[in-house]
Amino acid sequence: MYVRISDDREGESKGVARQLKDGFALAEARGWPEPAVYNDNDKSAWKKTVVRDDFRRLLADIKDGLIDALIVYDSDRFYRQPRELEEFLDICEGAKLTQLTQVTGDVDLASTDGKLTLRIKAAVAVKESDDKSRRIKRKHLELAEAGERNGGGRGFGYEDDGKTIRQAEAEVLLELKDRIFAGESIRSLCFDLNERGIKTATGGEWSQFPLRRLMMSAGISGRREHNGEIVAVGKWPAIIATEDSDRLRAMLKDPARRKNQMARRYLLTGMLRCGRCGAPLVARPRQDKRRRYVCARQPGSEACGKLAILSDELEEMVVEMVLHRLDGEALPRALAAQHDDRGDDHQQEVDAAAAQLEELAGLYAAQSISAAEWMAARGPIEERLERAKRKLADVDGTTAIHAYLGGGQDLRERWKELSMDRQRAVLGALIDHITIGPALVGRNFFDPDRVAPTWRV
Ligand SMILES: [Zn+2]
Repeated sequence: MYVRISDDREGESKGVARQLKDGFALAEARGWPEPAVYNDNDKSAWKKTVVRDDFRRLLADIKDGLIDALIVYDSDRFYRQPRELEEFLDICEGAKLTQLTQVTGDVDLASTDGKLTLRIKAAVAVKESDDKSRRIKRKHLELAEAGERNGGGRGFGYEDDGKTIRQAEAEVLLELKDRIFAGESIRSLCFDLNERGIKTATGGEWSQFPLRRLMMSAGISGRREHNGEIVAVGKWPAIIATEDSDRLRAMLKDPARRKNQMARRYLLTGMLRCGRCGAPLVARPRQDKRRRYVCARQPGSEACGKLAILSDELEEMVVEMVLHRLDGEALPRALAAQHDDRGDDHQQEVDAAAAQLEELAGLYAAQSISAAEWMAARGPIEERLERAKRKLADVDGTTAIHAYLGGGQDLRERWKELSMDRQRAVLGALIDHITIGPALVGRNFFDPDRVAPTWRV
């Protein structure tokens, strides 16, 4: 008997209980011995290692002549693709297995009719899912070409009917258009709208991505787009003139507008925290193009926006601290101890939990425990597995530096040749995060006292 156990706790698992129950009943009714269960688990906990393993095992056993008859709940549970069916049919033919029993009816694999039925069912199943997605796509395009609004909520600037202009919002759109043409950034427009208490169409605060999308949308110019292309004149009035809309679309799409923040990459992105508010610092150059990290006020974030530090000196200092640390005696000892003890412990924990889960599923498949017992028992084990996996990942995070242990001098010489990714891996292995303190008033040179790293090891 072949069954599939799915991850779906409410829906599919009931189906599995039925698969097993009906399957065993069927065998009994025929006077067959109790069937061996081939059990594929789509459960996420070990999805990586078990992907239809038992389907492959079953095919191998059929090939070896170990199977006299096969019970499946329904053939489309059994193979997922027509090519799997063809492989199965070939193997059955080679092994002279002719008895395929489904709860929904027997199939005689020796007869042409039996095979044909299976093939038709497979083809129909594939076609149904293809048709469905094609129908949906087709429908969307038809609506677009007919100039109908696409579904979803109210668009900013229009009433609920999607056709009547809401005057107050239309004026906001026209103002935003002018200010964007004048070179104002989407970010500063968001701040302004939020400060003035102007809400989005859904009544929320503005943030950058939705505002950019709104100003680029063809809808505000009374046109309909489909997959980013304008396909029709809409059945609703325009707020922004066609030429202005085209210009907005071109301007906001232009990647040059998105500042050249990333022109030079920033080594410490993601590692720095604001000493005032705890927000992560982001890379943002000064007006004079000097690179720096700042606590950036963003629409929709709590960051204080009151802290900045220049990049060059900071990066140099952090690299020096890390190289120095790699040179010391204490670090290799600490790392080695950590890896041997904790690493092994966590690995054992992961293995044990995974094995327990598998055993449980096996018990369930063999009907030694009920579905309710199975579900109740696996929750705590899954949690333990997740915890152990996370701890293991923490320990493994230090492997980037093992090669360099005690070699701080050597690494210092080669540092500049390493790729940015490699450099970041080395830093990230040692540094959990670095808190940057506020600058002292009147000090406009680099102040090392502002840099407070929290080490991982
Ligand atoms: Zn801050």
